[in-house]
Amino acid sequence: MARKGALADRKRADIGLLLRKIAKMVSESKDPRATALAELKDTEEGDPFRILIGTILSQRTRDEQTTLATERLFKRFKSPEELARAKEAEVRELIRPVGFYNMKTKGIIKVSKVLVGQFEGKVPSDMDALLSLPSVGRKTANCVLVYGFEKPAIPVDTHVHRISNRLGLVETKTPEQTEAELVKSVPKRYWLRLNDLFVRFGQTTCKPIGPKCGECSLRAQCRYYREVVRPKELMLARAR
Ligand code: SF4
Repeated sequence: MARKGALADRKRADIGLLLRKIAKMVSESKDPRATALAELKDTEEGDPFRILIGTILSQRTRDEQTTLATERLFKRFKSPEELARAKEAEVRELIRPVGFYNMKTKGIIKVSKVLVGQFEGKVPSDMDALLSLPSVGRKTANCVLVYGFEKPAIPVDTHVHRISNRLGLVETKTPEQTEAELVKSVPKRYWLRLNDLFVRFGQTTCKPIGPKCGECSLRAQCRYYREVVRPKELMLARAR
């Protein structure tokens, strides 16, 4: 029992060290920009409505496009009440920079109507109520909790899912499974920072294709490096 506890303690300490190393690499990268959601949190002072809409717009879209679309949208529509009354054609033009803008236009107007009709124009701050909203899945709900309410949660997008598996923190097939595993193994004090750090790390170093392992200080801890990248490097070295 004591041994189990000691192992768990060591794992927790390792996660803290790992996050510190990621934070250092991100801050020293050539492109240390904030993610679209962190930027939105800062510029809109964490307004949960804007975080919610920004997160819906960010789905399968690059950060630059999300930022552009949210700036255009919120200049014109400032509240759930205003967006609930908006004409689809106008919203569609404003958010055109993001992918799937037709579908997202309908989604953000609909979610605004539900907020006005059922939640007195306010974004709810608990998971179940958030999940009852249209266009809101677990990732979006967790983003609203973290970036809109500063409540500890772990939003798992494609970067968090990929990096957690590469590092060997989890061994999972879906973002939902990754969230469930991370929630068990990562101490709560790190939850608020994890998404932002992993997303920035995924954009700058641990990219989906062609991760920059040569520049990464996590090679010694990384399962993907050990099992996939390193054997290839050795094979190439032997072939020379
Ligand atoms: S060693 Fe490579 S795969 Fe592993 S975390 Fe670093 S960049 Fe990603």
